[in-house]
Parts: sequence; C-alpha cells; structure tokens
Amino acid sequence: MKRLIPATLLLLAPALTGFGAAAAQDVMPEPPRRPAELSPAPPTDTPGTPPAAAAPAIAAPPPVDAACAALDADEGIDAAAAAAVPGENGCGMAAPVSLRRVKVGDGRWVTFDAPPVVNCAMAGALAGWVRDLAAHATTKGVAAIAMGSGYECRGRNRIVGAKLSEHATGNAADVRGLRMADAAGLPGGDPVVPEDEGYRALTCARFTTVLGHGADRYHGDHTHLDLAARRSGYRLCQFAPAAVPQRNVNDKATP
Ligand SMILES: [Zn+2]
Repeated sequence: MKRLIPATLLLLAPALTGFGAAAAQDVMPEPPRRPAELSPAPPTDTPGTPPAAAAPAIAAPPPVDAACAALDADEGIDAAAAAAVPGENGCGMAAPVSLRRVKVGDGRWVTFDAPPVVNCAMAGALAGWVRDLAAHATTKGVAAIAMGSGYECRGRNRIVGAKLSEHATGNAADVRGLRMADAAGLPGGDPVVPEDEGYRALTCARFTTVLGHGADRYHGDHTHLDLAARRSGYRLCQFAPAAVPQRNVNDKATP
C-alpha cells in the first residue's frame, strides 16, 4: 500500500495507549514499559538500568512507525491512510488506515465489507489473520469479511464510565462473520461463523483478545478482536461455551 505519515502526526503517537505497546509485544517477551514511553524524558536514576551508550537528543521513533512501515511494504495489503483522529479522553489515532482488502496465498483478494478504520498494528494483524483463514481447511473459501465497528470512542461494552475500549484507539475490530466464495468466486450468502478448533486457534494466535460470538452477553452477534497489551502477557481467548456440547447432543449431520 502507499501512504504517507505526516511528521507532526508521528509526534502524537506515544499518546495512543495500547497501540505501539501491542506491536512491541509481538517481538519482545518482556512487558511494555508504558510509563517510561509516555514520560517526556526517560528516568536517569533507575537502579539496575545500564546507562545508555548514546542518549538520543530526540525520543526514539514510536512503534507506530514499524507497524505502518510494514503495511507500506506489503503490496498484498490494500489500505488507505485516513485522517488523524484527535479524540478526547484517551480516544484517537495518529495514523489510522482504512483496510479494504488483503491478497491471500492463492493470489485472490479477500475484501472487507465496510472497511474497518484501525491503527496500523491492528490492520497488520487483521491482514495476517485473513491469510491464515485462506490457508485453513474450513475457511479457505473465504471471500470477504463482514465487519462491525473498528475505531469507536467509547467505553468497554458501550457502558458509560467503563474503562476505555480498545476500539477507542483503533486497536480493535468486530467481525460479524466470514462470507465464502460462490461458484463465481464472489462473496455469497450470509456471513458464517466457524466453530472448529483450528479456526479458534489461528484467531487467538493473531490477537491478544478474542471474544467470540456468544462468548458473553455483549458479544451475541459478533466476534471482538483486539491487540490489548497486558502487563503479564496474558491473552484472552474465549468462545461460546455452549457451542460444542450443543452440537454433540443435537447434530446428527457432519458439522
Ligand atoms: Zn469489539
């Protein structure tokens, strides 16, 4: 994809909680040092911290650069840079993108119905997830992803006063289902929600939070995906507990 990030916008990136930290988590086993990243000047008296060999005069580029650069370099990701979202009360995105489609292993493009506006890290994770779907037995016929919301300035589960949702920094997206290719290779029929363990495993491998359809009362009609960075490295992977027992008891047909 082609996009440009205005230098002035990059300066805003450290304000995006959970954005850069999530990207860093992919490559670093240690928990992100968010307080240090957010402070205007790094502490110089931390015990046990080796002195910096050459302290930069300007703060190191925020991880948003790496995530956006990875999108830029991938010709198989069709995404458009969107206008920065200033936001308030912790909401906002410095360098959002609108993710339109992703080229998968066999050369097809898988599209996003209602392209989600998310941060670069989330766009990259979604693209990787789509490619995993196209390589998985039960989902290889995927032609489009039926999307719910991406960026949205709100509290968790839309509860006023609740902790800020990952949606509020573009670090999350909701999926209503997968639309499979018809005979013409186009997305046909209603969105489907796979229930096999392979699908669940590949989904949870790409995101730090997965709340599947029916996981709780707030996720009856969509699967929530995000890249929340947690201090312990904990990942939340939760699907409807009733799905498997119900199928075993009632379903005589092959799933
Ligand atoms: Zn959500």
